[in-house]
Amino acid sequence: MSTQWPRLNLAAGPVEVTARTLRDQAKPVLYHYDPAFIEFYAETTDLLKQVFRTRYDVVIMHGEAILGLEAAAASMISPGDKVLNLVSGVFGKWFQDFIEAYGGETIEIAVPYNDAIDPEDVRRVLQANPGIKFLSVVHSETPSGTHNPVREIGRIAKEFGVITMVDTVSGLGGEVLSPEDWGLDVAVAGPQKCLGGTPGLSLMAISPDAWKAMEARKPKPLRGSFLSILDWKATWLDQRRFPYTPSVTEIYALRSVLEQALEVGMDEFAARHQQIAAACRAGVRALGLDLWPVRDEIAASCVTAVRTPDGLDEARMRAVMRRKYGVTISPGYGELNGKLFRLGHMGPAQAHPTVLAAQLAVFERALNDVGYPVPFGAGVGAAMATLSGWDDSAG
Ligand SMILES: *Cc1c(COP(=O)(O)O)cnc(C)c1O
Repeated sequence: MSTQWPRLNLAAGPVEVTARTLRDQAKPVLYHYDPAFIEFYAETTDLLKQVFRTRYDVVIMHGEAILGLEAAAASMISPGDKVLNLVSGVFGKWFQDFIEAYGGETIEIAVPYNDAIDPEDVRRVLQANPGIKFLSVVHSETPSGTHNPVREIGRIAKEFGVITMVDTVSGLGGEVLSPEDWGLDVAVAGPQKCLGGTPGLSLMAISPDAWKAMEARKPKPLRGSFLSILDWKATWLDQRRFPYTPSVTEIYALRSVLEQALEVGMDEFAARHQQIAAACRAGVRALGLDLWPVRDEIAASCVTAVRTPDGLDEARMRAVMRRKYGVTISPGYGELNGKLFRLGHMGPAQAHPTVLAAQLAVFERALNDVGYPVPFGAGVGAAMATLSGWDDSAG
């Protein structure tokens, strides 16, 4: 291997994991029906319930979170079902493919990819279209660095008896969820975003209404498929069996990150992400740069999306950060490529003043390197100035 590995992976996921997660993952691979693994798995799902703050069933599907998102569509949508798809970014738009692949009919509310969905628009469209059965929404639109008011949207959906499918892949951990209170029926998260774990699993909270919708799917419930959520109910939830061999070592890593989050406490864990995100925004602004989201209130806590200013070759700047200083940050994704770039602060290894300071310092260095002069220390200083409330011993 000739390419040097980075020193800091501050990408938009997967992200740097903590030393403790690395250590905890390095365990003997157990046979999945070993009683010790069954116990380990059951304890892990209990911890996942605590992280989701739910009493709903939780299901872990063994593939990156796209599996859980497609499974939600595949398991619930019957041909001809009307699905209200809320689009404020790349992932929201992609969900339409899943809706239509499983015979659904899409009704869309879209906003520019630097804005968020207005819950009152959702109410208006649900009032005008009484046939809508499902609603899909992205909680934290990682590519846009924005988040949607999923609590308000979910509550409105419930008033209309609409089942919600929520992509909270990068939302869980950056905000404290409450599936019951927020009206989330299928919430899908990933370990490799704010939880700071390894990629490869879909973490799902499933409401009783969602189970009913799966049983009611036409022409018949989806069973005997990698995409079937009901298969997990019939096996793990009902009988402590598995529909296929689970990803044993990913479960070790998941258990570790769930424990680390719960030791801090979910309120403090999310608050840390929010504090670091606010500090990062202050740092970016102090460098004279603009944020991509139109309002601070909709800025995500997982990444900070920065609008590419005129005169900056952002691809070159990122390449300099990576090649000269070993720091990985993410570009804009899909149609946002070039328009923005993203500073990263998701996961306990990243959402910390030390790492933010290093990131902003290297960012300032790289901007100067590519001929976009900024004053050294201005971003770092402004970010640190906001962090007087930080305390590693809190929580
Ligand atoms: C990371 C992420 C996913 C998973 O998608 P990948 O392209 O496989 O990483 C889905 N939705 C959101 C909002 C994400 O941030």
